[in-house]
Amino acid sequence: MSARGRPMFNKILIANRGEIALRVLRACKELGIKTVAVHSTADANAMHVRLADESVCIGPPPARDSYLNIPQLVAACEITGADAVHPGYGFLSENARFAEILEAHGITFIGPKSEHIRIMGDKIEAKRTAIRLGIPVVPGSEGGVANEDEARVIARNIGYPVLIKAAAGGGGRGMKVARSDEDLSEAFNTARTEARNAFGDDAVYIEKYLEKPRHIEIQVFGDGKGKAIHLGERDCSLQRRHQKVWEEAPSPALNVEQRERIGGIVAKAMADLGYSGAGTIEFLYEDGEFYFIEMNTRLQVEHPVTEMITGIDLVLEQIRVASGAPLSVTQDEVRIDGHAIECRINAENAATFTPSPGRISYYHPPGGLGVRVDSAVYQGYVIPPYYDSLIGKLIVKGRSRVECMMRLRRCLDEYVVDGIDTTLPLFRKLVDNPDIANGMYNIHWLEKFLATKPFDE
Ligand code: ADP
Repeated sequence: MSARGRPMFNKILIANRGEIALRVLRACKELGIKTVAVHSTADANAMHVRLADESVCIGPPPARDSYLNIPQLVAACEITGADAVHPGYGFLSENARFAEILEAHGITFIGPKSEHIRIMGDKIEAKRTAIRLGIPVVPGSEGGVANEDEARVIARNIGYPVLIKAAAGGGGRGMKVARSDEDLSEAFNTARTEARNAFGDDAVYIEKYLEKPRHIEIQVFGDGKGKAIHLGERDCSLQRRHQKVWEEAPSPALNVEQRERIGGIVAKAMADLGYSGAGTIEFLYEDGEFYFIEMNTRLQVEHPVTEMITGIDLVLEQIRVASGAPLSVTQDEVRIDGHAIECRINAENAATFTPSPGRISYYHPPGGLGVRVDSAVYQGYVIPPYYDSLIGKLIVKGRSRVECMMRLRRCLDEYVVDGIDTTLPLFRKLVDNPDIANGMYNIHWLEKFLATKPFDE
């Protein structure tokens, strides 16, 4: 509610599916805002459709014809009279065009200003902006690198190993490491070709390659009027193929001073930028130093771990700020309390990672103190083969990391999903691993662990 007790919006259309559509819907319900679900024909029976006040079918199963179909989404807003759209994550959440088209129709996009989405969507521009705002970055080329000779000069300057990265990159594609002058030519040309094929744009840039960093990201919130706060960090170093698998907050690697220092830098940068809404600044962290890699201008999959340790509802804050209300907390009021871990449970075989769509014949999620399951599945639900394989997020909080791990182990034992393969067995291995127990892992740890074939008896 606004200060005068009026709802911030009357009706919000949720331009997404799965657990995140449900997550957004829950925040709307608590605020007394009506909800519109949109769905493809494959999702007619989905939970977000059942729980919303209204729903609109926006097309056939392929995402480009439904969840990415901007004219259909605008039409759905007009038919239902929705005055705002929450994009969730993925799909159109970082599409500046979509934000502009909505605004042109008098519909509020619950996200940052389109110019900020655009800047941060271009890696070279994002890095330039980060430097300008005083955020530490990975040493490297200033902007794009035109040819091999230029690349060699820069690589020698910053020192090998270096990483050639696609300006239009995403999902870790178009990235190549060069360890010496001899490697450089091949790495440069392969990165270019991959970038051209994957993104239709062969612009590349060069960075120092960090050998054993952690992935640590800072959650920020701006009010769009020059105020911004940070909500601490999340450690998302456990990744497979650049996809996050396990996220936790606080990071086992940071102390209070380090958190305050980097958080302060980032919050000030976002205030100076006039940033509005939720954002995440991603860093690689090695030997006590932070190196900016990118900014996500949206809600993250792993946002619940931050909610668990701060008690702040990030979706509610997004809706408040988008409606023109101030942030509900000041930096001094943000308290970090306890420890939270999220496991992303996928419908995939835990040993081979082969997707496993199909019918869930039996479903029993864990519960109890400090336990949250964000999921849109239920017993009898049929997982369609068209979308990502995330079926649920298990988020557990404890007063300490040790208590959190004990609780997580108990929850993983309790969680039953029958009829399909899931990655639950992987998490049961991780929670018992001494490196994980000690918080001793970096961005390569999980791939190395999987290379030991932990499921071969
Ligand atoms: P994308 O948008 O393709 O995900 P990022 O810039 O976020 O690209 O990088 C993806 C991943 O690649 C990072 O999470 C990290 O694991 C690795 N990476 C990126 N830059 C570097 C670097 N300079 N040194 C080492 N690893 C890196």
